[in-house]
Amino acid sequence: MATYLPMLNEVERASIDERQPLPDRYRGLDDEQMDRRIAAARATLGSRLLILGHHYQRDEVIKFADYVGDSFKLSRYCGTRPDAEFVVFCGVHFMAESADVLCAPHQKVILPDLAAGCSMADMAEIDQLEHCWRDLEAMGIDSVIPVTYINSTAAIKAFVGEHGGIVCTSGNAAGVMTWAWGQGERILFLPDQHLGRNTAYKMGVPLDQMVVWDPNEFDGGLAADEALAATLLLWKGHCSVHERFTVQQIALVREQHPGVRVIVHPEVPWDVVQAADDSGSTEYILKQVRESAPGSIWAVGTEVHLVNRLAHEVAPGKTVISLDQLGCLCSTMFRVSPNHLLWILEELVDGRVHNQIVVPEAQQHWVRVALDRMLEVV
Ligand code: SF4
Repeated sequence: MATYLPMLNEVERASIDERQPLPDRYRGLDDEQMDRRIAAARATLGSRLLILGHHYQRDEVIKFADYVGDSFKLSRYCGTRPDAEFVVFCGVHFMAESADVLCAPHQKVILPDLAAGCSMADMAEIDQLEHCWRDLEAMGIDSVIPVTYINSTAAIKAFVGEHGGIVCTSGNAAGVMTWAWGQGERILFLPDQHLGRNTAYKMGVPLDQMVVWDPNEFDGGLAADEALAATLLLWKGHCSVHERFTVQQIALVREQHPGVRVIVHPEVPWDVVQAADDSGSTEYILKQVRESAPGSIWAVGTEVHLVNRLAHEVAPGKTVISLDQLGCLCSTMFRVSPNHLLWILEELVDGRVHNQIVVPEAQQHWVRVALDRMLEVV
């Protein structure tokens, strides 16, 4: 069977060279055995270990997480546990990179499977961004502030930090964009065109002030006057999981569940947000559903593991279903299996560190600048 390997940036490629495949002795273990051994390794490592689990992670892994949250919230937990020498990040590559930047120098961040990438982050490569920047300059387009979603590589964040830009999350994108428009005439938003468009539209920016920059086209596929007239340049990238949600699914769920409220993540396309009742980050979705009235029915447009956990967690009488009736799974996040977690932990017990994520020193500085700007403005 073919193995999915995302497009890799320089740091990932270097890491992959050092990657070891999951040893055979960790394959085919039964669930009970794995649970018992993971718990034992965890107990042996004690406070030297911190396990972080992203909301989209599978249940068999998330049950061992010390903290569960979105990518930025998780990265910040490192600072609350300076005693944790090993931070095992059950998420995807760019999240572990952010954690490495935000952790103290003595903390080692580990991604249980280095092939756990992110299709969205892979859609903006550093050489494409450098090219874009040169093209914009050549087209006479200045006063551009780069804004990158946290779902991007460290190399992209570093470029953004070095060029006066800033990082955002799905929860604070509006505040960040307000800041950026205060610094320059236009924003280059990457890598997720949908988050950029949905956020700006909600802020009152008309669609005709937004254009899409296609990194695979000459001059981004734009004429200079088109780019010049825009206040928002949207990088042509998306999340392959959230792009699956459609207006037709919303019509169907409304027909099947009268009274349903549809809430979606802003990584879904613009027309889907318009057809939904509400939209917001994973933390916002959790809050709205948890605080809703008894008897509420929710159709949720985000990754299926979060939706299923929410469905089990809500009080009896509330109903939570996935907007995509076939389920919408992040396949790269799913690569982090309990087998990988067990292997990583047992090796740590024996003094061996595998799959450590290290952001190069030169990038660390500018990534931190871009992140610090975000923390100052929102
Ligand atoms: S859900 Fe989408 S953006 Fe999030 S990690 Fe998976 S591919 Fe990346």
